[in-house]
Amino acid sequence: MKLKQPEIKGFSSFEKKKLISKPTPMMAQYLEVKERHNEYLLFYRMGDFYELFFDDAKIAASHLGIALTKRGKINNQDIPMCGVPVHASQTYLSRLIKLGFKVAIAEQLEEKSLKSGDKKTSKIFKRDVVRIITPGTILEDSLLESKSYNYLLSISFFKGEISLAWVDMTTGSIKLQRVEGVNFKDDLLECINKVEPGEIIVSNDLVKFNTIKEKLKSFEKVTTQIPNSFYDIQNNKEKIKTFFKNSKIDYSHNLSENDISVIGALINYLELTQKKNLPKIKNFEIIDKNNFMQIDMFSEKSLEIFQKTNGEKKGSLLDVIDKTKTSSGGRLLRDFLKNPLIKINEIKNRHDLVEKFILNLDLLKRTLLLLSSLPDVERALSRISAKTNNPRDLIMLALFVEKSIELFAELKGSNDRIIKKLIIDHKIQFTALRVGKLIRKKIQETPPINLNDGGVIRSGVDKRLDDLRNIKNLKQNDILDLQSEYALETGVNNLKIKFNNFHGYFVETTNKNTDKLKDCSKIDFRLIQNTINTSRFQTEKLKKISLDIENSESESVELEMKIYENICRQIGDESDCINLISHTVSFIDVISNFAILSLERKYTKPNLVQAVSIDIQKGRHPVVEESLKKEGQEFTPNDCVMDGKNNTWIMTGPNMAGKSTFLRQIAIIVILNQIGCFVPSSSANLSVFDKIFTRIGASDNLSEGLSTFMTEMIETSRIIDGATNSSLVILDELGRGTSTEDGLAISRAVLEFIIQKIKCITLFATHFKEICQLEKKYDEIKLKTLAIKRWNDEIIFLYKVVDGISEGSFGIHVANLAGINNSILSRAKEILKQIKQDENFVLLNEKDVNFDEKDAQEFNEIVDEIKKLDLDNLSPKESLDILYTIKKNYLS
Ligand code: ADP
Repeated sequence: MKLKQPEIKGFSSFEKKKLISKPTPMMAQYLEVKERHNEYLLFYRMGDFYELFFDDAKIAASHLGIALTKRGKINNQDIPMCGVPVHASQTYLSRLIKLGFKVAIAEQLEEKSLKSGDKKTSKIFKRDVVRIITPGTILEDSLLESKSYNYLLSISFFKGEISLAWVDMTTGSIKLQRVEGVNFKDDLLECINKVEPGEIIVSNDLVKFNTIKEKLKSFEKVTTQIPNSFYDIQNNKEKIKTFFKNSKIDYSHNLSENDISVIGALINYLELTQKKNLPKIKNFEIIDKNNFMQIDMFSEKSLEIFQKTNGEKKGSLLDVIDKTKTSSGGRLLRDFLKNPLIKINEIKNRHDLVEKFILNLDLLKRTLLLLSSLPDVERALSRISAKTNNPRDLIMLALFVEKSIELFAELKGSNDRIIKKLIIDHKIQFTALRVGKLIRKKIQETPPINLNDGGVIRSGVDKRLDDLRNIKNLKQNDILDLQSEYALETGVNNLKIKFNNFHGYFVETTNKNTDKLKDCSKIDFRLIQNTINTSRFQTEKLKKISLDIENSESESVELEMKIYENICRQIGDESDCINLISHTVSFIDVISNFAILSLERKYTKPNLVQAVSIDIQKGRHPVVEESLKKEGQEFTPNDCVMDGKNNTWIMTGPNMAGKSTFLRQIAIIVILNQIGCFVPSSSANLSVFDKIFTRIGASDNLSEGLSTFMTEMIETSRIIDGATNSSLVILDELGRGTSTEDGLAISRAVLEFIIQKIKCITLFATHFKEICQLEKKYDEIKLKTLAIKRWNDEIIFLYKVVDGISEGSFGIHVANLAGINNSILSRAKEILKQIKQDENFVLLNEKDVNFDEKDAQEFNEIVDEIKKLDLDNLSPKESLDILYTIKKNYLS
């Protein structure tokens, strides 16, 4: 497996040794930093720009579409360079990270000091890498999707057991899952799929195991290989102890050596990339997949939960039901869908809450309004703890606290016992409020984004800061006085004192008065610059005032930084409280999202029952329903009643009749129920399902070299191995990728196995009508089909599930709808007719088909039709109708 980072040939140590000319001090410093970070693009801070040099510059310039310039020479060759302004760097970084690059950011580690008064100092500021940005360690909002988590996942394999640990840097939680047993390699894939990591880290050794390498192949683009030492068990024991030392997290949970190795590797990688500013980890959790309903990745795909089969997110189940107001609420809803509940009481609690909000419409409206104004505080907090925040993150935090407290007050006002359970403990609210007040008291309402600009801290917060700011005002008055004094002494009335970044303050006069200043006996005017029209002078007095102002300015910025850091530290100390509030608010967001969906789309509260069963009346598919609505069409609802005894439906029906929609809708209703949402039906009594398996529609997995049939069989074998009698199994058109006999035989065998051994609720759609004969053998089976209506030569789909077997597959009709040409359709009809007359009909015995003859025959038929017409007695409408018929029958 190759490293994800596109290859960067930096100025490597080997090449450095080959240096024949001495680099400038600045370049020597750059080369030293680059040598230690050779596998990353190095963004090198120089003033207001991040500069890139050598190959880094060429790569960045070509990928970012910015100009490639040069700066100095080395070994007699130009050094390529490009740069991006610091204030706009996020956009550029985001593009590079998305392209798969990892970027090391080198900052200036010293502040400029003006105390010396020498503006043209030749000293080189110390610079080093403060952070490495990789796809899994991004903190910036602009580089992240707001409603998705961004996980960094670490994998370790030891003695037949796999441990996976993952962290979301922006929300600060580490999770661990173990995968073992015969299916461990498939379970590894399932786990990765569930986590959807932005980046996977593995040791160099791990990828030497061919089977694991195989499994990780589809994640190659997001995989980073790291040294084996990152996974060292002994070192990692200590590492974990130190890392969690000051947190209240109980991480001891009988961690195996493999767990220690994998968690330690995560921490090592965080240390490598975040340097000193490690994110604050708020919780640690060991995931047991049996605590949630399991939806394997094939089912997740065929139900189009997070994305459609074509890969688009728009039109997925999540997209259609996500009306959450906050980003963290959106992330939580996604989490709910990844992990539907299986404990009946937990599901009921969510349903009850949704119901309460529906019944309390005023409260719901006010809640939605307050939620709409809430910023993403989880991510702001993590930036604060990683010290990559800007002052506006603090204002965001204060706003969040104030609005959340307002929200809790609203909930309290409802006087409802169940709703009031959502209100967070008073002490926690109080602490958060204190943080909010601290920010409001000390930080300007709209502070500058950059701390170095000054003006972040309010006046009145610190006496010294106020004094320093005053110095500037007072000294500026001194400058005005000095200007009058100089004008008087020299007799030059239009003499001015001006400021620029290069000279600081200076005296300026028009060239015709230059001599008057030069000849002044009382004041020592030193000429510092001549321009076309003016002369510029410096005096000792002015230089001193200038220096006083600049020193007070830089001292005040330094002081502001100290005060700011102190505030951030205080916030960091209370971040647990704020996170708790944030989590509760996200939960309220998801619950009120469910409430609003139910109101707007007429979803109903499901009733949960113990015995395995489904009783859905007038159920609808939430996604298809919404898309039909947009086209002004209505969805036809259907019932589904099944239980332990009547647990198998065999469904037949023509293509396009609505089978897949119906099958998916049952699975989706079950999932919606178990995430605590109301469901699209007029009523629903449902038991809790432990797993859902759906195989709908055949698909090749060519990237893994698997044919349709092979994929189908792999998926089916996982269903057979994994399903229990509390699972829901949906199989659509099993056995279609092989010969009819094979397909029929396998389908029947699988179905009989499920009925006899697994005994779970099963919906089985098939084109093999022969399978319907099993109904006579098993009481569990009911035969269902989708109703159609014939009209002339047409069939109309009614989308109604009824008892019985489909009259036919109507494949030729669907081919017609799809635009297959008429010659083929009429030929297919002939063949079908003959097959129906004689089961043993063999095409080879038949006289050869001649499509030219068929075309000529059709042409003659059209001519005959036209000859029959009595044109003088045809109305324009009738002639148009005839034209339409000809076009439809012969030419479409
Ligand atoms: P099949 O699986 O039988 O080939 P689909 O389930 O894919 O058919 O349905 C085909 C199309 O029919 C859908 O895209 C949808 O537009 C429409 N359809 C399906 N079920 C319904 C329904 N219950 N009410 C209205 N339209 C439906």
